[in-house]
Amino acid sequence: MICVSLGRTRHSSMQEEHQYLAEKGAELVELRVDFMRKRPDLGRLLKDRPTPVVVTCRRRSDRGRWFGTEDQRLALLREAIISGAEYVDLEDDVAKSIRRYGKTKRIVSYHDFDETPLDLYAIYNRLAECDPDIIKIVTMANLPSDNVRMLEMVEAATIPTVGFCMGEFGTISRILCGRYGSPFTYASFSREREMAPGQLSFAEVRNLYRFNHITKQTKVFGVLGDPIAQSKSPLIHNAAFRKLGIDAVYIPLRVPADNLMETLAEYEKLGIGGYSVTIPHKESVIEFADAPDDLTDAIGAANTLYKADNKWIATNTDASAALEAILTGLRRAPGAIPDFKGRKVLILGAGGVARAVGQALVSNEAAVIITNRSRDRGRNLAAELGCQFVTWENRASDNYEIIVNCTSVGMFPKLDETPYEPHWLTESMVVFDTVYNPEKTLFLKQAADRGCTVVSGVEMFVRQAAQQFRYFTGKDAPLDYMAETLRRSISAARAVTPPAGESTSAGEDVAS
Ligand code: NAP
Repeated sequence: MICVSLGRTRHSSMQEEHQYLAEKGAELVELRVDFMRKRPDLGRLLKDRPTPVVVTCRRRSDRGRWFGTEDQRLALLREAIISGAEYVDLEDDVAKSIRRYGKTKRIVSYHDFDETPLDLYAIYNRLAECDPDIIKIVTMANLPSDNVRMLEMVEAATIPTVGFCMGEFGTISRILCGRYGSPFTYASFSREREMAPGQLSFAEVRNLYRFNHITKQTKVFGVLGDPIAQSKSPLIHNAAFRKLGIDAVYIPLRVPADNLMETLAEYEKLGIGGYSVTIPHKESVIEFADAPDDLTDAIGAANTLYKADNKWIATNTDASAALEAILTGLRRAPGAIPDFKGRKVLILGAGGVARAVGQALVSNEAAVIITNRSRDRGRNLAAELGCQFVTWENRASDNYEIIVNCTSVGMFPKLDETPYEPHWLTESMVVFDTVYNPEKTLFLKQAADRGCTVVSGVEMFVRQAAQQFRYFTGKDAPLDYMAETLRRSISAARAVTPPAGESTSAGEDVAS
């Protein structure tokens, strides 16, 4: 079950949004009455309520907004019990002073906004002495391993315990706590209105991560990176699981650069079945694997970690996905020669993606030329791959059959930038931009205007994910559906995203 936290300053807004949530399928709503500007009228809020409720009134010292006295607050909580609210939230230090009455269930809660204390079991035992129906322990995760300790505690609890971690490191425990016995998790009305650090929206918890479907049997996958909040991988992997009816969930896993090995070792306790891997872990993750495959060895970076015969294998699906994407262009291009042998390819950029794409093209006997803004980095990659290098200033000094942008130029929010001038392009060229957000970069728009055959980064992104999906599940991914889901999400985010420089949120790009 998902408990949606609702905090509005006016009674009418609280009631309207409560009704809205009920219509969207909410089964339990937390009324954060401390948000109300006037003294909360519980009679009005509870009358004809469309779902069961938790009545919560947080003090300012607990990061709430209650403006009245503590006596008034306690009186309000007692009134909620007398009025028959389904649940009332009582902080551990006041729970003993408020008596059980009627059918109202007591959630005895503990919050720590700074850390996840080492003595979680001692906290649990202390709360257990406060006559709880449900214990709630919510703490800040400062490291991914905090989630593991929390989930182990939830599983060991004999009194039903809602336990998860806050903050961006805590996402995994918010999503998986039900699997370990937590009677519910909390979600916000929307991403913009999170009530606690790292809180996910109701739409995300319900539709993207499908919290209510997660059981002990549900397989767990995720993407390792830092930062990770904007990753589109959870969107398309979860969409594919849902489409094929696979009992699995895919979670964004923020892991700091210096904590990867420890996190992977700890997450073994959660039985995670496979990972996508992104910046900054693509090189270091190889160390964790029992075996990198040959391609990963050659590229020196992996974007996938999966289990085969109980061993962790590191592999790289970026490279083959890029080749497949370019091939879709070569098949459409004049002459339609779907082959790389001897084709002159200019790669713009010398980062991780350029290395993977360059390696794949070189091993398919393309004549690769590298160019990069930072000369040394470009020269080094060219030497490593055994191909030519041309300076950034001279990148248009030759004719190419294929141009691949592996820089981040043109990526959101810098939509008006391009790594290659339009008058350098000729219509016989196949132009591939690895940037996928936006799908139609300025580079691709100008290339299409010049008559080039264009391929977008979406084609690569969904293919690298689809190959991972096969490693994870043994099944073919619904490629078109993943692409359609990604495209919808990118354009929906575009439609509501403020211009560069203002705050953005990708939280609501989930069908509700
Ligand atoms: P990276 O290792 O950080 O490399 C970034 C590259 O972009 C470097 O070559 C850098 O040049 C260049 N660059 C950045 N700003 C530039 C500018 N203003 N002018 C010229 N060059 C500039 O990143 P990466 O992992 O290789 O990723 C590169 C891009 O690939 C990402 O931005 C992303 O859009 C795309 N990508 C696509 C997929 C997909 O599946 N479609 C997957 C992953 C990534 P310097 O060396 O001079 O800094």
